[in-house]
Amino acid sequence: MTYSEAEKSFIDNISTLYDPLEAKSLAWLSMNHVSKLERAKYLSIKNEEMPAEHMQALYNIQNELASGRPLQYIIGETEFYGLIFLVNPDVLIPRPETEELVDWALITLRGIEKDPVDLKILDIGTGSGCIPVAIKKFFPDPEVYALDISSGALATARKNALLNETEIHFIQVDILYPVNDILPGLKFDLIISNPPYVRDSEKQQMLKNVIDHEPHTALFVPDSDPLLFYKSIADFAFNNLQDDGYLLLEINENLGTETCKMLVEKGFKNIELRQDIRGKDRMIKASLK
Ligand code: GLN
Repeated sequence: MTYSEAEKSFIDNISTLYDPLEAKSLAWLSMNHVSKLERAKYLSIKNEEMPAEHMQALYNIQNELASGRPLQYIIGETEFYGLIFLVNPDVLIPRPETEELVDWALITLRGIEKDPVDLKILDIGTGSGCIPVAIKKFFPDPEVYALDISSGALATARKNALLNETEIHFIQVDILYPVNDILPGLKFDLIISNPPYVRDSEKQQMLKNVIDHEPHTALFVPDSDPLLFYKSIADFAFNNLQDDGYLLLEINENLGTETCKMLVEKGFKNIELRQDIRGKDRMIKASLK
């Protein structure tokens, strides 16, 4: 069988589970993973015979995909902000909306009128480490810290920092407990977070492969207190931000107004709510003065 025929058969096989565009993109990502060929090279040899070991590897991916396992977990990696990140069920698969948050963080950092080597950044609930690693990669001078409750997530985030040659200080902490003294003496210029924000009642609108495979501690919050992480993060930021520092949050698209209101009540100023590329309320920036 040629590469091209194998790709077509792969798409046919998963077409009952994924819409046509996604099936096509999954097929290319799988083919790229299996053959290690760049797109241009692949196109130039796609009518050649595919080696048996590549066929077998592609077939294995197809079977796992059919069981609903996300491709990123099957192949163990994904791309975020143009960088490769290792992923496994200990960490959420980085989402495109979080790339938009990183964009805003980089613009904010570049606008701070201080020597970048003096800046300190903290990411709360780092997961795969995609936020601090991408920030450090594209704005390398500040000192970057990242927290998570999960040792499995921190192990993955450490590997991702190494893989992308970035130095980040990782610390295991539950942000829901009073943690004002975890980083004594440090004041941050930017505190950023993409905490769990999907309400239990919103579960049914999510894809089954997300619910079945991605870490629930990174995703879900009770309907009775959907902003619980945001409140703790706001309290922590209130005490640990520089006077001219910024808080930057990814949020639940249905809770923009509530999240802004909570930040006002906690004493934050200059609260700016922004939409993501799909027009959903997705990010907030706030400061203390
Ligand atoms: N944006 C993610 C999703 O909808 C949720 C991320 C989060 O809870 N922080 O799958």
